[in-house]
Order: sequence, then C-alpha cells, then structure tokens
Amino acid sequence: MKQGPKTAVPDTPFDDLGLAVSCHEPLARHTWLGIGGSAAFFCEPVDVEALGRVVKRCQERGIPLRVIGGGSNILVPASGFAGMVVRLSAPQFCAIDVQRPAISAGAGAKLVHLVSAAVQAGLSGLETLVGVPGTVGGAVVGNAEGHGGDLGGRVREVRIMLPTGDVEVRSGARLAFRSRWSNLDDGVVVGCRLELDEESPAQLTKRMQKEWIVQRSEQPSGARSVAMMFKDPHGTTAESLVNQAGGRDLRVGEASVYAAHANYVVAHPGCSSDDVRGLVEAVRARVRERLGVELTPQIEMW
Ligand SMILES: Cc1cc2nc3c(=O)[nH]c(=O)nc-3n(C[C@H](O)[C@H](O)[C@H](O)COP(=O)(O)OP(=O)(O)OC[C@H]3O[C@@H](n4cnc5c(N)ncnc54)[C@H](O)[C@@H]3O)c2cc1C
Repeated sequence: MKQGPKTAVPDTPFDDLGLAVSCHEPLARHTWLGIGGSAAFFCEPVDVEALGRVVKRCQERGIPLRVIGGGSNILVPASGFAGMVVRLSAPQFCAIDVQRPAISAGAGAKLVHLVSAAVQAGLSGLETLVGVPGTVGGAVVGNAEGHGGDLGGRVREVRIMLPTGDVEVRSGARLAFRSRWSNLDDGVVVGCRLELDEESPAQLTKRMQKEWIVQRSEQPSGARSVAMMFKDPHGTTAESLVNQAGGRDLRVGEASVYAAHANYVVAHPGCSSDDVRGLVEAVRARVRERLGVELTPQIEMW
C-alpha cells in the first residue's frame, strides 16, 4: 500500500501553538533556594496572546498550570511539577508606565524596578517594599509587605488571565487583600495599576535609602539560597517567636535557620527540598510545643 507523506507526531500538547516550550526544565534555576526538581513543561510566552494559548490549552487538556515569578517564595519538591510552568519574563510583561499619580506595571517586572520608578517619579507609597525580592505578579498575589505598608493597599486594578485564556480587569470590591494574602488565586496575573501619592523625589529617595538600610540589616544579604519561613503573626514577629522557642539552632540535613535572622532558612550545598520542608516543620513544632503558637508558613510548598 502506498504511504502518504508522514505527518509529524507532536511531542508535547503545545507543539501546534507556535511557542517555544521546553520539557524537563530544572526549576532549581528559577528559585531563590536553588533546589527542587523539574517542570514537565516550561515556557516564557512573548505576549498576552501567546500566554492565552498556553493557558487555554492547559485548561482543555487538564494539564496543571503554575506561574513562577522571581521564585523567592516557593519550595519545589525533588519530584518537580507534573504540568506547565510559565514565567512572564518577556518585555511585554515587564513594562512600567507612570501616569501620575497612578503607575501601571506588568506582572513580570521586578518589584524593585517598580519601587525605584515610583520614587524617581516622585510617587510615594511603595518605598517600604524596597528590599522585597521577586516580581510584581508574585507581590500582588501574595500581598507583599514592608515595614508599615503592603502592596495591596495601593492596588486599584488587576488584569488577570482566566483559565479560558480571557483577560479580566478586576477592581474595587472584586479585589481583596489581607496580610500576605489576596483573592487572586484563580488565574495568571498579567499586570496591575496602583494609585500613589505625590511627594518630592528627593525626600522619597532619602526615605527609600533608610528603608533599604533597615531591610539589608534584617535580611540575609547577597545569598540567594535563602527563603522566608513564616508569616508574622498579629502583634509579633515570627523571628522573635523562633528565638524565644530556642529554634534558631535547629538544622535538618543541609538546611539550617539563618544565624542572623531566625525567620529565614538557608539551603547549604547538597541541601534537598525535603531538608527545607523538614526544617520548616521542625521549627514550627518547636514554637508550638514551647509557646503554644501555630506559625503559618510563608514559603509555598509546590
Ligand atoms: C531574602 C528574602 C526576603 C523577603 N522579604 C520579604 C518581605 O520583606 N516582605 C514580604 O512580603 N515577603 C518577603 N519575602 C518573600 C517573597 O519575596 C515575596 O513573597 C515575593 O512577593 C514573592 O514574589 P516572587 O515573584 O518571587 O513569587 P514566586 O516565589 O515566584 O511565587 C510565589 C507565588 O505567587 C504565584 N505567582 C507569581 N507570579 C504570579 C502571577 N503573575 N500570577 C499568578 N500567580 C503568580 C506563584 O505561582 C506562587 O504561588 C522575602 C523572601 C526572601 C527570599
């Protein structure tokens, strides 16, 4: 029997979408802790339309989908993630646009770039977030907090892509932010608009520098193999509770509590995701046993 021309058999469920999708992408490359397994599929769409095609395909085929921002608040297990991970690193997702007193930012923009752009433009309200690592998307979804201010308090509008691939604009009562929490858990945040206050850039720069010094004195500097363990409970800090409970010397495998700030875990060379998870649980148990307080993990376990 005569055979017709061979039709290419797709290797992934995304091959006909016209995007670069990689398989078995090591997620350790994209997280602050630098550990964890691979994503079955990974892509960095070039624009909202391309993102929409991926999101819709995942929905149609029942493929789990996650977004990775700066990777500063996630712990990936050694088994990795059996689905699609998208990263909004393309220029279209990273734009920052000042329209005084508002400012719009793409979800892929670094939070530090947004804070600097606001300060340079003489717009205040974000400078307390100066030391928070990660992206605007991660900060909006997790309502990042600095000293005395959160991002959610300034967010007026969020563009979110639904599992159908359609983008919805949410504002007002449809947005809810609480301490380190938002109700934006049903899609991919694409961008947001914030409303800020006018202030002299010189004064703002001074304030931001002060904040920066405070943040740097409290946070592990330079090291990328760290993560914040717990949310601060109302009226106190997780750090002081861990210290009071005698948790600062705890170590599990190659994961230990950061000596200079007891609310951070450090992943030493050879550390596994199980070590980090074990340490977070050990510290949590110590605080529970000694102080009767149940700490809520800040780091998200994938
Ligand atoms: C040294 C250090 C200091 C820190 N200091 C602070 C601090 O002062 N205050 C504070 O609040 N936090 C702090 N954190 C925690 C962390 O930086 C914040 O939670 C940050 O906002 C996470 O942003 P990210 O882009 O890295 O998110 P990721 O870690 O990449 O992701 C976190 C979660 O957000 C989701 N996500 C990310 N982008 C999107 C998107 N576009 N759409 C939908 N979901 C998305 C991810 O799927 C994941 O569920 C600190 C962490 C470290 C390591």
